[in-house]
Amino acid sequence: MCGIVGYIGKNDNTLEFLINGLKSLEYRGYDSAGIAYMTDKINILKKQGKLENLDKCVNYKQKSNLGIGHTRWATHGAPSENNAHPHMQGKIALVHNGIIENYEKLKQKLIKDGYKFYSETDTEIATALIDKMYNQEKDILKALSKCQDIFEGSYAMGIICTDDPNHLYCLKKDSPLIIAKSTDGYFIASDVPAILKYTNKYYLIENNEIGKISKDNLTIYNHDLKEVKKELQTFDLDLENAMKNGYDHFMLKEINEQPFVIEDTIAPCIKDGKQSLRKEIPDLSKYEQIHIVACGSAYHTGLVGKALIEEFGEIPVSVEIASEYRYKKVFYNAKTLVIFISQSGETADTLACLRKVKEQGIDSLAIINVVGSSIAREADKTLYIKAGCEIAVATTKAYLAQSTLLSLIALNIAINKKKLDNVLVSKIFDEMKKLPSLIKDLINQDYKKIAKKIYKKEHIFFIGRGIDEAIAKEGALKLKEISYIHCESYAAGELKHGSISLIEKDTPVIAIVTDEKLASKTISNIKEVKARGAKVILIISENLNTESDYYDEKIVIPSVNPFTQPLLSIIPLQVIAYEVALLRGCDIDKPRNLAKSVTVE
Ligand code: GLU
Repeated sequence: MCGIVGYIGKNDNTLEFLINGLKSLEYRGYDSAGIAYMTDKINILKKQGKLENLDKCVNYKQKSNLGIGHTRWATHGAPSENNAHPHMQGKIALVHNGIIENYEKLKQKLIKDGYKFYSETDTEIATALIDKMYNQEKDILKALSKCQDIFEGSYAMGIICTDDPNHLYCLKKDSPLIIAKSTDGYFIASDVPAILKYTNKYYLIENNEIGKISKDNLTIYNHDLKEVKKELQTFDLDLENAMKNGYDHFMLKEINEQPFVIEDTIAPCIKDGKQSLRKEIPDLSKYEQIHIVACGSAYHTGLVGKALIEEFGEIPVSVEIASEYRYKKVFYNAKTLVIFISQSGETADTLACLRKVKEQGIDSLAIINVVGSSIAREADKTLYIKAGCEIAVATTKAYLAQSTLLSLIALNIAINKKKLDNVLVSKIFDEMKKLPSLIKDLINQDYKKIAKKIYKKEHIFFIGRGIDEAIAKEGALKLKEISYIHCESYAAGELKHGSISLIEKDTPVIAIVTDEKLASKTISNIKEVKARGAKVILIISENLNTESDYYDEKIVIPSVNPFTQPLLSIIPLQVIAYEVALLRGCDIDKPRNLAKSVTVE
């Protein structure tokens, strides 16, 4: 998830190249960093925290022509020096981005083979497996190809071997990796910024390919170890744009990362249907009441969770704003669970609520993005979303991953309580598997026409009922926080109890209709605002879509089961918010007055 860099060449300033490369990847967020470099042996240096901690310990007088470096964004094991990369087992030193999903199984076998492990990472297991295969095959390429058959999950890896001081190896599956060519050698990197200081010429490495690089030669192999010919590419953008991977803003990049994020979040839970779900998601069916405590968009994911857990898991849920929950009288019983949701895991109000709940001896579960953060460490149990580093202040991919985990929690409760028949359960798993591609299709629709119609407005209303109201709330927040347009969201039936007086000719109303049971009711409310001159933008699921005259613009989204539907409904609202803010010339990634991680009360 974070950064990899490596160098081999005629220049012996490898240490400087590695640290500079890692510095250019700092924007991705990380919790520790390390390097391994070749002299007469492999030397390893790693430190927890900021790169400057590592930088201070590097002896730049030390000369080397080969090395690998890493910034870690912990997924397995806390952020610590011990868990930092590179890892070394036997003759192999390795840096890795991604997750080796079957590491537990591999670890047991490797322990039987006599390997000892010193970290909690999946990466160290992968290192040992490569070492074991190398000892069997006596050939690194063959060992790497064998390991590719065994590894499950995602990886970009840089590898050096004590026996082979003249080569740098790399391989990848589902995590980005490039090999760049400079005047005096080659770099490997997880991302273009790492190499831009030295070269802009690079080869893109595809899944299951392996690179073998010497100081003046590069060979790329496919999985069968047949040579692959590649075209050298040129990167023409500057550093800032390189970090955005070609997107104009981090928010747009992160919106487009959502299919991959959701794949990473759900894949381990749905692989073998019910069985995997039970393994990955704790069974909450024993609880009699659930509180969900969060702030901002995380609070809105809580509302999605509430709708699903109450409807299908039949457990009452109250969703609470952390800054309120912190000071109010709260009623628990022995069968209360409190769920805390925070992207950073450092949100001050949410953390204070967790401490309050723990004082009462009540069970706690955290849903967090940043591994090893305060909330993650202090909660009784933590589930990690796999969103990677989110830079845009307005969350998109972390929101979606949080909602996805809550949906899986609700599904698990419903299955464990036998509230769903088997046919529906298999349909849900099938549709969950299709989710990444459905999200991708929705992101790629054209929302510019709608954005042009509303970007000059000063007030926009969002309405929906049931779970669609939760989506309306997040849609309104997304648009207001980045475009500075005043947006209000309402339960559709509530509008006529007061706020309908604000609707006048051409006031935009964005209505979300995906719940079959409530659709006719919401449509009546839409007609009420339409009759008062509103311009209605309708987001409707395919099964409810009929031609009519109660809307002005329509976005039709695929209709799927109720656990998957809210994960699709939000996508058009994210992209519309982005397009509107773009037309208004706003600072999309850093909206005024806002901070990414709110660590003050
Ligand atoms: N899964 C690995 C770890 O937790 C790699 C993390 C990364 O991509 O930085 O160490």
